[in-house]
Amino acid sequence: MTLRADRTPKYLGRCIVALIALMVSCGKAAETASAIPADEAMKLLWEGNARWLAGKSQHPHADAPRRAQTAEKGQHPFATIVSCSDSRVPVEMIFDAGIGDLFVVRVAGNVCGVDEIGSVEYGTDHLGTSLVIVLGHTKCGAVTAVVTKAELHGKIPRLVEPIRPAVVAAQKAHPDLHGEALVPAAIKANVWQGIQDILEGSPTIRQRAKDGKVRIVGAIYDLTEGKVEWLGTHPEQKRLLALSEESDRAKPAGAHASAKPSSAVQRKAAYDPYAGIK
Ligand SMILES: [Zn+2]
Repeated sequence: MTLRADRTPKYLGRCIVALIALMVSCGKAAETASAIPADEAMKLLWEGNARWLAGKSQHPHADAPRRAQTAEKGQHPFATIVSCSDSRVPVEMIFDAGIGDLFVVRVAGNVCGVDEIGSVEYGTDHLGTSLVIVLGHTKCGAVTAVVTKAELHGKIPRLVEPIRPAVVAAQKAHPDLHGEALVPAAIKANVWQGIQDILEGSPTIRQRAKDGKVRIVGAIYDLTEGKVEWLGTHPEQKRLLALSEESDRAKPAGAHASAKPSSAVQRKAAYDPYAGIK
């Protein structure tokens, strides 16, 4: 079938409208479908990581029938995970999960800026996941770069800006630690910072958490051991959930919306993107 040139824009427009309508309807369908409860999702992740640790991965949902099924019938992941882009943190592998199992948001330093929060909202509000994990990892180069005040270039200062409050908090809690010695505490604080950024930046996720429809927990993946350490919910979750609509941030949350890169970082010239990664 050929399309007449004068009809093409209208035709494309209708296609786009239909596509958007389909996406929205699929999202609503998924939301109303029986989502896997957070407890069960936690169990699946825990069991998957135990298999990975033991070298007994089953590589579920990784075959052609699963690919065809999810392509045809849509995705129904059981968890939304914000993880670092670090190539040593292959999320599906460390949880022994497969196609359509995890809605994964990956960004250097697992920072939770506007784009990441929007992606998490898609995972919870449209795909119906009841569990959100902010997953940090040991030896994180992005966190290490901020802790050690590494030289940064390009857009990286903006990217790592949301990590800065975590480093400050870690330094405050551990005034005796400096440089590399502070990194593990900063990595943990950065997981809490990510959860805080999500809860402060998203009234819809906050409401779902308040209603018990969504659970948000922190975790840290050990690159060497392969083990995921579960941190539980944010220590100040009660306070964060009590935030009202009016107390939402005046400015958009996080990385891509940070107005001003840190002057300390900005003064530095060239940045080694592999700093802290051994
Ligand atoms: Zn990292």
